[in-house]
Amino acid sequence: MKDSYVLLTAHYDHIGIRPSAADDRIYNGANDDGSGTVAVIEVASALAKLKQRPRRSLVFVAFFGEEKGLLGSRYYARHPLVPVAKTVADVNLEQVGRTDSSEGPQVATASMTGIDFSTVGDVFQAAGQAEGIRVYKHPRNSDAYFARSDNQALADLGVPAHTLSVAFDYPDYHGLGDHWDKVDYVNMAKVNRLTVRALLMLANDPAEPQWNEANPKTATYRNARRKHEGQ
Ligand SMILES: [Zn+2]
Repeated sequence: MKDSYVLLTAHYDHIGIRPSAADDRIYNGANDDGSGTVAVIEVASALAKLKQRPRRSLVFVAFFGEEKGLLGSRYYARHPLVPVAKTVADVNLEQVGRTDSSEGPQVATASMTGIDFSTVGDVFQAAGQAEGIRVYKHPRNSDAYFARSDNQALADLGVPAHTLSVAFDYPDYHGLGDHWDKVDYVNMAKVNRLTVRALLMLANDPAEPQWNEANPKTATYRNARRKHEGQ
């Protein structure tokens, strides 16, 4: 199965500087999306040390320009590194560091956008049970945030693609104060283990993830999938 692929992605850009600010003018974006970017590197590093490699190939990508409108992932969609028809899933990481959500502490929990759009959500919920992390559907944001990160560019190609997040909204969202010392590193390591486990499940299962036929929100993605698979 090495000629089929699972993607792990995150965006490494943020929103630059605020020239009018008095002191600190730099938008560091530690959580958005420094957390996702270093998680991609850390997960890749852990998986590279495995003696027994997973059956499918794993592809690790950091995208530029998400904040400018998914520029990097749209570019990737036009210039894929591996065949789209052989790309079975994209797991995108956003805001996996901070647990101080605007809705209260989010320790040992994670949510996924479009969690019931495809079977990738089921895989993460099963992996979460094994790792002691509750992977849940956020009543509003799971659906509403699906289009708000790089997973959308892959979904438009028909690839089951979702974004994993710990906090959708938090006090310094797109603010100058999104600093590294506000990241919950113990929890982030736990979320990384969840990601590793879920990626291995996706990469070792001969059955490819499938869009949920019963959910009308997946119709365009299912059509795109059929087109790329030449059916
Ligand atoms: Zn982001």
